[in-house]
Amino acid sequence: MSYEPTIGLEIHVELNTKSKMFCSCSNDPNERHPNVNVCPVCLGHPGTLPVINGEAVRKVIKTGLAFNCQVPLSSKFDRKNYFYPDLPKGYQISQRDTPFCKKGFFKIGGKRIRIREVHLEEDVGRLIHKKDYSLVDFNRAGIPLMELVTEPDLKSAKDTRKFSQELQLVLRYLGVSDADMEKGQLRVEANVSLAKESKKLGTKVEIKNLNSFRAVEKAINYEIERQTKVLKAGKKVTQETRGWDNVRGVTVSQREKEYAHDYRYFPEPDLPPIKWTQEEIEEIKAEVPELPQQRRERLKKEYRLSDKKAEVFVSNKDLGEYFEKVISELPPKLPHEKLLKLIKLSSNYLITDLQGLLKKASVTGEDFLITPENFAEFITLIYEATITSKIAKIVLGEMFKTGADPSHIIEEKGLSQITDEAKIEKIVKKVLTKNQKAVLDYKKGKENALQFLIGKVMSQTKGKANPEIVSKILKKLLS
Ligand SMILES: [Zn+2]
Repeated sequence: MSYEPTIGLEIHVELNTKSKMFCSCSNDPNERHPNVNVCPVCLGHPGTLPVINGEAVRKVIKTGLAFNCQVPLSSKFDRKNYFYPDLPKGYQISQRDTPFCKKGFFKIGGKRIRIREVHLEEDVGRLIHKKDYSLVDFNRAGIPLMELVTEPDLKSAKDTRKFSQELQLVLRYLGVSDADMEKGQLRVEANVSLAKESKKLGTKVEIKNLNSFRAVEKAINYEIERQTKVLKAGKKVTQETRGWDNVRGVTVSQREKEYAHDYRYFPEPDLPPIKWTQEEIEEIKAEVPELPQQRRERLKKEYRLSDKKAEVFVSNKDLGEYFEKVISELPPKLPHEKLLKLIKLSSNYLITDLQGLLKKASVTGEDFLITPENFAEFITLIYEATITSKIAKIVLGEMFKTGADPSHIIEEKGLSQITDEAKIEKIVKKVLTKNQKAVLDYKKGKENALQFLIGKVMSQTKGKANPEIVSKILKKLLS
């Protein structure tokens, strides 16, 4: 008897606004010093009043629209009451029954994942536990935190991982968050339940502490196995919150699940309700850019890229945009066949050679000096065989270092390809006299002796001789 897993996600995202959610303190995820971005409002001093950060609200609406959500024209914030040392106010401002966005969906790999809601709240502080005491840092307290909740539509750990990765990409395309999981800017919690029939849901267990996509996949698989064992033994699964222990590779019971009524929610008395006009929503909708899936399809169709290459340009958004700029700088009115060849060359050199030089840096960084125009020229020079692929690496390395244009580098360093047959023949003859053994080998039928001789000629010319001409002349002289 097998059980079918059902997975729903609760995803918290720290928005990249300039200031915090309800005060003007800086929202700086890179601040190393504790308790510097704080003020009486985010520390919950009596008598202070919150002010809504409009930028954060717009970012939530934008995200909801990208996930095909409905945006009700009125909404409000609610107060969620609980005590914890990282929550100085004794309550968190959140949204209980009027999220900014609801009833959306997102398609991935042909599957439709429904989005229950996207709402806005504030983050809490950070506790640092030492051996026999704990420290608290309130820099994070009050940072706008968006929560996206899916319906339980995911069916496997692998699909959940894929969905989470695509979601991260969408957030980055929207520019609402850096969504770095390691920095806690994107936090995934998974609700996992098992049932025999797909219609009836089993008891759900919430898994927290998922700090990487790998952890998401591993923890869900572990939980499916654990719950299967419980059910097969004829026992009941307890509704609870479990934490993922990355070192041991297990989930550990943390507490029994609390319910909404435990929090004594009520409408936040210090904030007015929020109202929208349809025009305002439309304005935000117009800001939603081309999303990863649309870009994937367009790149493949427009530039005939393989799935793999399109994926590199979609997941590395900056490189993808640079690629399109390079293409737009190629000579105009090229015959279609030639254009496709240049596009292919461009994608190859960007993905392998340039990415190799960049290591992890980005083409949008200040240190990156190659203009799209120069890169397009570089590609054209390779295509027209002005430089060999070996020389191309040298030229690109130089362009990367100095930002100089490729024809300038080629001229200055004398790197043009040698295509003069008489000149090449002279060098070939010299090589043949010096390598009599290889000549004999070739005459005995050893094919790789030819490769050896080509290599000798290439090194004599410092990689500048056209390899096809070299091969042709060698064959002629050896026959
Ligand atoms: Zn503050």
